[in-house]
Amino acid sequence: MQIINNFIDGELIPPSSQQFLENVEPATGNVYSQIPESNRDDLSHAVAAAKKALPEWSGMSIEDRARILTRLADEVENASDELAKAEAIDNGKPISLAKAVDSYRASANIRFFAQAITQFSSESHSMGNEGINYTLRDPIGIVGTISPWNLPLYLFTWKIAPALAAGNVVIAKPSEVTPMTAFLFSKLCVKAGLPRGVLNILHGSGGNIGQAIVEHPEIKAISFTGGTATGKKLAATAAPMFKKLSLELGGKNPTLVFADCDFESTVNQVVRSAFANQGQICLCGSRIYIERPIYEKFKEAFLRQVEDLKIGDPLELSTQHGALVSQPHMDKVLSYIELAKKEGGQVLTGGERITLKGRCETGFFVSPTVIEGLPLSCRTNQEEIFGPVCTLQPFDNDDEAVSLANGTEYGLATSVWSNNLSRCHRLAKQLDFGIVWINCWLQRDLRTPFGGVKASGVGREGGLEALRFFTEPKNVCVKY
Ligand code: NAP
Repeated sequence: MQIINNFIDGELIPPSSQQFLENVEPATGNVYSQIPESNRDDLSHAVAAAKKALPEWSGMSIEDRARILTRLADEVENASDELAKAEAIDNGKPISLAKAVDSYRASANIRFFAQAITQFSSESHSMGNEGINYTLRDPIGIVGTISPWNLPLYLFTWKIAPALAAGNVVIAKPSEVTPMTAFLFSKLCVKAGLPRGVLNILHGSGGNIGQAIVEHPEIKAISFTGGTATGKKLAATAAPMFKKLSLELGGKNPTLVFADCDFESTVNQVVRSAFANQGQICLCGSRIYIERPIYEKFKEAFLRQVEDLKIGDPLELSTQHGALVSQPHMDKVLSYIELAKKEGGQVLTGGERITLKGRCETGFFVSPTVIEGLPLSCRTNQEEIFGPVCTLQPFDNDDEAVSLANGTEYGLATSVWSNNLSRCHRLAKQLDFGIVWINCWLQRDLRTPFGGVKASGVGREGGLEALRFFTEPKNVCVKY
């Protein structure tokens, strides 16, 4: 049984209460490690350590800070195989995906922001002969980051890297469901020589230590990624305290396939966009709208590929579809499949729990599920399922495609598949989402603004947006 520890003031230590939670391997359903159930005493310890570390870290030259973060990125890159394996065990995702996406992006995030901070600048506004304004952008101080289980180290580093690069000190809480890679990461921080107290990692449940972080008066900003309901709760706590808040929340993303798309590559990419990470990526396209002339042909090709996805042990290199992250999450996904049937949907493929032979016999596997015959208004098409479930529906023209796509409370990401570029640009303007992909999906440039509109969030991460979030602008007006 592995024991996970908190990371406070540069030390790996158990929670002060000595209370631990069980951590389950999704592919087997077995408990394989224990994680700290941190409390407010642990938080006070972490805040004191962060406070002590702040003057030196925020006052350090940008080059020195960037050098330390680059060393950390190197350590993460060197450990990428170990991290990918740990992520596959902890989360249930295929190890090939964990290597190509999760551990790759963890080091890329840190390297990117280590460089970005050396290029960051602030504005000045001339008042002609009267004077000049210039903007100072200083670190906020102690900031909190709270991240989810679907891309554990990827999203954890996506937050802490810009926060640290901008000169803040951080109290970070990974998801209690997938704590392992953040724990391994804390060891890499020690190896890379990150000064003590600059980053503190507290493990435990959201309702306890997560809520305590949001409530703490000395933590001045919160960067959160997770579900919309949790985001609402966080905002209700943080807003009256006037904390800076970045919320990256849920989605119900539409995929628009037009008759003039590149058929083969579109089918490939739309399968990937619906089922990568077992559909547990906030950007996955779970509502697939297909222009009527190719609806039947597309459906047939799509189903063929979906049925070919290799479901198996996440630790096998050939596996394409692993386990869902937990029993409660699997139960939720299965309950949505039942709901879809009650709402009149026809399950074209999948729709059930899978029992594998051998090591993974009791794991949380659900087959990739495709449903048709449901209207936009039903719960299956309105609520985020966050699993391997998508719906298909035909449309007849551009206007109908846009109105179907925009017809939920969410607005995170969408993709458009067509060779008519003028249509693609027109639709990109009309689609009410933070991210529009044209003939691609999950193609990422870390300099671009990332985030959603409507119930999918407030604020943007990525590039300069993240550095702006993690700094406080101050205008200085000088009269000549
Ligand atoms: P979640 O239940 O909202 O949890 C997210 C994080 O918040 C976890 O670390 C959780 O801790 C913590 N938390 C829970 N209650 C809290 C509270 N009262 N105060 C402070 N922290 C609290 O989301 P999830 O199930 O982990 O992740 C799936 C959701 O994330 C989906 O809705 C998905 O769309 C969304 N997501 C969005 C993006 C994006 O960029 N927009 C990216 C990835 C995922 P515990 O795990 O310990 O409960």
